[in-house]
Amino acid sequence: MEIFGEKMKIFSVDVESVSDANMIGKDFTEEGVKIIVDMLKRYKQQATFFWVGRTAEKYKKLVKWLYDQGYEIASHGYTHVRLDNFTVDELNKYLRKSSDSIKKIIGERPKGFRAPIFSVWRDYKKFLSIVGKYFEYDSSIVPVRTPFYGFRKIKDTPFNVGKLREFPIGTTKVMGIKIPTGGFFIRVAPYIKLKDYAVIYTHPWEYTDYKYKAKSKIEGLLNNMCKKNLKSKMESLLKVHRFSSFKLSKS
Ligand SMILES: [Zn+2]
Repeated sequence: MEIFGEKMKIFSVDVESVSDANMIGKDFTEEGVKIIVDMLKRYKQQATFFWVGRTAEKYKKLVKWLYDQGYEIASHGYTHVRLDNFTVDELNKYLRKSSDSIKKIIGERPKGFRAPIFSVWRDYKKFLSIVGKYFEYDSSIVPVRTPFYGFRKIKDTPFNVGKLREFPIGTTKVMGIKIPTGGFFIRVAPYIKLKDYAVIYTHPWEYTDYKYKAKSKIEGLLNNMCKKNLKSKMESLLKVHRFSSFKLSKS
């Protein structure tokens, strides 16, 4: 029997197109999404796809196709920008627009939100209380401090801020170092061992031949590292764990 809550495992995908993620070059969104869906289907697994609203507007058919197959469509903001310096007013407008853009495509409001680049305010309770006006759950907290995002001392299992349910990104230890279970970290880690509670995240472009040409050199370098083994690493997780979308989980 499936046990949720502290034992839930979520497979999540953050979808941002080349131009919406400040990258340059050919777009990979459709190709990458299809590779991920093929992989999920092979192992009969569910997932949540967090879409940047502007990307979703460009790929309406693809979003609908995912939705019609039972995958959860959630929001990854309207544009893929950092939210750290937003005022309360700007954040409210942005969240409303993010939710509206998805509703226009699938006919219902997305339940979940993930901030682009996990750019939650240092006052995360205030940030999440605003997110809670538009969404039922959030998954933007990274319980590891990295140079770009994350928190050192924070709960690493689900918690509430008002009515909003927060599902932090999962963490694991690789050679004694605590890392988030997603993106760059999953790619560079030699192996990934999931804990009972695990939220993993990945991006469509990571599965394609797309050469990430970011406008900043360091970003380009980090984002092109270790893409080759990602699919087999993900498949090794899909083989042994039962994943769910947030919507289908009962936590
Ligand atoms: Zn993103």
